[in-house]
Amino acid sequence: MSEVHTNLPFRPLTPSLQNKTADVVVVGGGIVGKACALGLAQSGLQTIEIAPDLGQSIPSPQGSHWGQRIYAFSPSTQKLLAQLQIWDAIDHGRLQTVRDMRIYGDRGGKEDYLHLSAFEAGTPQLAWIGESDLIEHTIDQASRFQNKLERISDVVKKVNVDSEKTALHLKNGGTISAKLIIAADGANSPIRNELGITVSEESYAQSAVVANWSCAYPHLKTAFQWFLPGGDIVAMLPLPGKQVSMVWSTSPENTADLLKLSQTQWADQFAFIANGAILKQLGELKLYSIPIAFPLRKIRAERFIGPEASPKVVLIGDAAHVMHPLAGQGLNLGLRDVAVLLNTLSKRESFRQPNDLVLLRRYERQRQGDTSALLWVTDKLKKLFSATSNTKRQLRNWGLDLVNKSHFIKQRLIERALGEIGFE
Ligand SMILES: Cc1cc2nc3c(=O)[nH]c(=O)nc-3n(C[C@H](O)[C@H](O)[C@H](O)COP(=O)(O)OP(=O)(O)OC[C@H]3O[C@@H](n4cnc5c(N)ncnc54)[C@H](O)[C@@H]3O)c2cc1C
Repeated sequence: MSEVHTNLPFRPLTPSLQNKTADVVVVGGGIVGKACALGLAQSGLQTIEIAPDLGQSIPSPQGSHWGQRIYAFSPSTQKLLAQLQIWDAIDHGRLQTVRDMRIYGDRGGKEDYLHLSAFEAGTPQLAWIGESDLIEHTIDQASRFQNKLERISDVVKKVNVDSEKTALHLKNGGTISAKLIIAADGANSPIRNELGITVSEESYAQSAVVANWSCAYPHLKTAFQWFLPGGDIVAMLPLPGKQVSMVWSTSPENTADLLKLSQTQWADQFAFIANGAILKQLGELKLYSIPIAFPLRKIRAERFIGPEASPKVVLIGDAAHVMHPLAGQGLNLGLRDVAVLLNTLSKRESFRQPNDLVLLRRYERQRQGDTSALLWVTDKLKKLFSATSNTKRQLRNWGLDLVNKSHFIKQRLIERALGEIGFE
C-alpha cells in the first residue's frame, strides 16, 4: 500500500484542557468530519477537529480480515478524495470496482428487472466498494502531518454563538473559539439540537443487517439487489476476490432472528428468499464476519446553517441528512457537502471571512437541491417496494421493466448515481 508522504513531523493529539482559537472547528470524527477538516487545513485555514474517537488510531486493514462497515463510493467521492490527495494513497487492492448493477423486483424474474451497466454508460465503473476503515486510516495518515490541522480527542458539551464568533465548551474543561463551526457530528447531532434547528424525521421500522460472505461463484464485479415481497431489501455488494458484503433491510423482529442464525440456517434463508436467486447467482455462501444491525430512518434538517439570528454553524453529512441505505448514497451525499463547502470557502472573495453570511447561504442553497432529490427518490423507492397493494406492485414491476428498456432514463439514473456535480 502506498503511504501519504510529507516532510512535516508527526504531531501528537493535543489534550483539550486549555483555551484555543482557530479559523474553523470541525466537530465529528466520521469520514465526513475527517475529510472536511483535512480539506480546510489544506486550503490554508487554521483548523481544529474535535471528536471523542480521534485518539484511537485506525489500523490499516490487512489480509483476509474485512471490516464490517463496507461502503459503495460514487465517482463524486473518488473526485473529492483525489482532490484531498487521499485516493492514490489508498490500498487499491482492497477496493472493488462495480461494473454492473442488477436490481430485481419482487417476482425476481426478467420481467421486473433493471440492469445498469458501466459499459452502456460509457464509464469505466459505476462505483467502488471498500471498507470504512480503509478510507479513515488513509485520511488519518494525511492529517497527522498537516500543520494547519490540530485534532483534539474530546466531546463538545455546549455551543455559544454571538454575532462575531463562536465558542465550544468541551467535556474535559477546555474552550475552543472559532469564526465558523462545522457540525459533522452524525445523525443525532448534538450541535444541531442545541441550536434548535428543526428536523423532519421518520423511522422506516426496519434495520439493516450487514455481514460479509465468501461466495462460490465469481460476482463478476456486479452489485445485486433484490426487493422482496413485504418490503425487505437484500443487497450483495462485490468485494475483491470471491467475497460479497450483504446489506439486508428488514423488520426489527426479523433482524433479531437473523442475528441469531447459524451458518446452516443462513443457507436455508438464502435458499428460501427470492426463489433461490441469490444462491443461483453467487453459489454457496460462507459467513466470515459477525452480522451486525443498524436501525434505519430518514432525517432532514430544515436548515443547513444556524442559528437563525446569526449563522456561524454549518451542518454536513448525517448531521444534515440521513437516508435509507438502499441506494448506498448517504456518505457520498455527505462528502458532496464537504466538496461544496471547501469550494465555497476556498473561492471566497478576499474581503469575506469564512463565516460570512453570503458564503454560508451559498453553501446551503447549493446543497438543498441534491439533498432533496436524493432523499425523495430513496424514500419513494423504499415505500413503493414495501407496498402490498396489487396496483402498486403492478405499477412498480411495470416501472422497472419500462426503465430497463429505456436507454435515456437509464442514462439519467446513472448520472444521478455517479453524483457528478462540479465542485472544482
Ligand atoms: C447499513 C448501512 C449501509 C450504508 N451504506 C452506505 C453506502 O454504501 N454508501 C454510502 O455513501 N453511505 C452508506 N451509508 C450511510 C453512511 O453510513 C453515513 O451516511 C455516514 O457514515 C455518515 O458519516 P458522518 O461522518 O456524517 O457521521 P458519523 O459517521 O455518524 O460520525 C459522527 C461523528 O461525530 C462524533 N460526535 C458526535 N457527537 C459529538 C460531540 N458532542 N462532540 C464531538 N464529537 C461528536 C462521533 O463520535 C463521530 O465521530 C450506509 C448506512 C447504513 C446504516
